[in-house]
Amino acid sequence: MEWCVSMPKIELHAHLNGSIRDSTLLELARGLGEKGVIVFSDVEHVIRKSDRTLHEVFKLFDLIHVITTDHKTVTRITKEVVEDFASENVVYLELRTTPKKNDSIGMSKRSYMEAVLEGLRAITAVDVDFVPRSMDVSSPVTTMNMDTFSGTARKKIYVRLLLSIDRRESTEAALETVKLALEMRDLGVVGIDLSGNPIVGQWDTFFPALEFAKEQGLQITLHCGEVPNKKEIQSMLGFLPHRIGHACCFEEEEWTKLKSSEIPVEICLTSNIRRFRTETISSIDIHHFVDLYNAKHPIVLCTDDSGVFSTTLSQEYRLAASAFGLGKREMFQLAKTAVEFIFADGGVKRNLEDIFFLAEKKLYV
Ligand code: 5GP
Repeated sequence: MEWCVSMPKIELHAHLNGSIRDSTLLELARGLGEKGVIVFSDVEHVIRKSDRTLHEVFKLFDLIHVITTDHKTVTRITKEVVEDFASENVVYLELRTTPKKNDSIGMSKRSYMEAVLEGLRAITAVDVDFVPRSMDVSSPVTTMNMDTFSGTARKKIYVRLLLSIDRRESTEAALETVKLALEMRDLGVVGIDLSGNPIVGQWDTFFPALEFAKEQGLQITLHCGEVPNKKEIQSMLGFLPHRIGHACCFEEEEWTKLKSSEIPVEICLTSNIRRFRTETISSIDIHHFVDLYNAKHPIVLCTDDSGVFSTTLSQEYRLAASAFGLGKREMFQLAKTAVEFIFADGGVKRNLEDIFFLAEKKLYV
């Protein structure tokens, strides 16, 4: 585990409100309980429970959103989530979140995202690079970058943002999110995610907004195949997103299509096992990681919701190592390959490649 922590890592699938520390969530819930907004004793066991079904996960998100959605709290959780990833040597984080509107507290999608940015600016414990430099000026690899993985110098983390469209949203609301992403490109927003309860909403509702986003040059990742829905999975693969998340309920035809299109897959082992335990993935041995890994299909290990599923990215690597017999070299290679699938510009990619190059020497000498 120590080795997995020391290795530099890339996180490409992390939902902000799913990555909140349990301690913070409990503290915020207790505070709202004292104010009479919620009944703390009714929600405490929901927060503390770690083994949840898909349905329970989305019930928990509804609760989390009641607890966290004001500007100050959004700023706080953003800061803490990024600090937590940096502390386990995540050197590049793509953090996704659903911009939320709440007229009763004067929150617009834009002001929600400004609160997220405020959280990034508030971080002092580590150096955070979240505003892209001009395309042709890549920031030099400093000692800070190089020593990031060794724990001997101040850590540095690159953070880029993805705006999520929730499957409960209308076409207009999805378009509003895409337009916001376009406006915020200079502030580190690199793409769009489609997420939310997979049994809610229709692909046709989101397609116009996603197509517009793609035309405008935003990068797209879709939650795909979380439930068996052949028609939707095929439409999503036909759309050719830049990455997909999960791919748990594919059939032979979809695997063939996925592999020929070489769309990278964000794999979230703990999340998949917890939620699909009684359904398609009954145990980790039959997880599709094995088939995709053996086929050399582009994959990246991710946490999904480190708070909700009580995991860390280091733990996901350790789980892969123990379940699938990966050695240190294979794990390092897996982490390093993820650089190819990031949505940030080439300058960041080159810096990350240098970080991995130097880490490789240190970790194996
Ligand atoms: P937020 O976007 O509010 O920062 O993060 C939580 C939200 O992300 C949830 O309400 C849900 O819409 C989405 N989300 C988190 N985990 C998952 C997941 O595993 N599958 C899907 N489809 N959506 C998720």
